[in-house]
Amino acid sequence: MQEVLYEGKAKILYRTADPAVLLVHFKDEATAFNAQKKGIIARKGEYNCTIASHILQYLQQQGIANHFLRQVAPQQMLVQAVKILPLEVVVRNIAAGSLCQRLGIEQGRVLPQPIVEFYYKNDDLGDPLVNNDHIALLQVATPEQVELLRQQALAVNDRLQPFFQSRRLKLVDFKLEFGINGHGAVILADEISPDTCRLWDWDTDRVLDKDRFRQDLGGESAAYAEVLRRVVEST
Ligand code: ADP
Ligand code: MG
Repeated sequence: MQEVLYEGKAKILYRTADPAVLLVHFKDEATAFNAQKKGIIARKGEYNCTIASHILQYLQQQGIANHFLRQVAPQQMLVQAVKILPLEVVVRNIAAGSLCQRLGIEQGRVLPQPIVEFYYKNDDLGDPLVNNDHIALLQVATPEQVELLRQQALAVNDRLQPFFQSRRLKLVDFKLEFGINGHGAVILADEISPDTCRLWDWDTDRVLDKDRFRQDLGGESAAYAEVLRRVVEST
């Protein structure tokens, strides 16, 4: 049995025989509001693992390096081991969630240009929003790395917006994590899934992401299955 390296809220990381490779197991557990709300979304593990595998593979084809190696089971993928930078990089195309709460902007407003935000990945602090000066103070990334993360996040957005549009989905916003691999390169890591993206149906604005769980809208599992169907069928 492989050794557990880390168990998070949505995934378990296992070591493999190769120290440069990790096995990621996607769980059905869902959490929200810094784990104050907990639940299960039926078959979420396999839906997210398959969605993330497709998207990360697509991004590689588009020239965006990331940790994905291959999907080895419905709920499991092999990835390059990286040292995760403790920053969550958020890109927003349409106003939703904390942006609306913080700035009093109406939900659903199309932003004139994408907004990039950084959050310090620290559960005890509730992942606070940080600016470049805060990041320098915390010494979690160099100014050059921060600029690289910003550029990479916008590049991902440029690829994913048309990817989702062709599947009749609006990419409202999403969260990325990056890490440093064994060669010292900063690469995209973690997952891209309905847990980490806001996705609305193109025609109806029906919510097809974790907001269904956050807001007790019901039908979470069916929404994730719908995203999987659209992502995979058009590939
Ligand atoms: P969390 O509860 O911290 O969100 P998750 O359940 O999402 O954790 O588990 C994934 C954990 O593994 C996260 O902490 C994430 O930063 C980390 N991670 C993702 N990809 C890699 C990788 N390639 N190498 C090392 N750690 C990774
Ligand atoms: Mg996570």
